[in-house]
Amino acid sequence: MSDKQPKIIMLFGRSGCGKGTQAELLQKEFGFESLSSGNLLRQRAKISDFSGKKIKEVVEKGKLIPSFLMFQILIDEIKKIRDKKDWNGLIIDGAPRVLTEAKLMDQAFKWYGWKDIYPVLIDISREEAFNRLTKRRICKECGQLIPWVGEFKNLKRCDLCSGELMVRSDDQPEAINARLDYYEKEVKQVVDYYKKQDRLIKVDGEKTIEDVYHGLKQAIS
Ligand SMILES: [Zn+2]
Repeated sequence: MSDKQPKIIMLFGRSGCGKGTQAELLQKEFGFESLSSGNLLRQRAKISDFSGKKIKEVVEKGKLIPSFLMFQILIDEIKKIRDKKDWNGLIIDGAPRVLTEAKLMDQAFKWYGWKDIYPVLIDISREEAFNRLTKRRICKECGQLIPWVGEFKNLKRCDLCSGELMVRSDDQPEAINARLDYYEKEVKQVVDYYKKQDRLIKVDGEKTIEDVYHGLKQAIS
């Protein structure tokens, strides 16, 4: 690896803020490595050892994996990326989730010698998040997921197959409220941590996917 610093981009925000979509866009355009805490947990849950089974149980109940374990899983992957020859950036989607993880993350980045760190909050209000999560729809015909965002709100039928659209029944208001409460209780502390150190990058997440992406790119350039 050259002396050039890789970009480390951490994306966080309320459920429904579109961090997964934005991570994908960045990955496609810049070829960055990408880690999603949700995907890593699902992968780990497939190994049927003690932790794998327990992760499956905890995730199914909608509870959270403790930080020590989340961090262990994350660091295992980060270590592999650190040793790769050609890579110029890493996107971490959905972490840190709590203050402890934000502090550990800083220790890890220091250890690996990375200084070009971008903690990015994709900012949407609680109301917007609730609407997006309860009003997003799915095509009855082809299964395409239609997000409740920007121009998609006006879609009457599926733009791919013109199939009928329906609201997803698994987006239950109670479960959604629990996730949004979690943000107020935990993730906000992460946001404040970066804010106090004058490191927080805030991107308005209530715009269209393209506009959010544009804002994100400017913020990390
Ligand atoms: Zn369709």
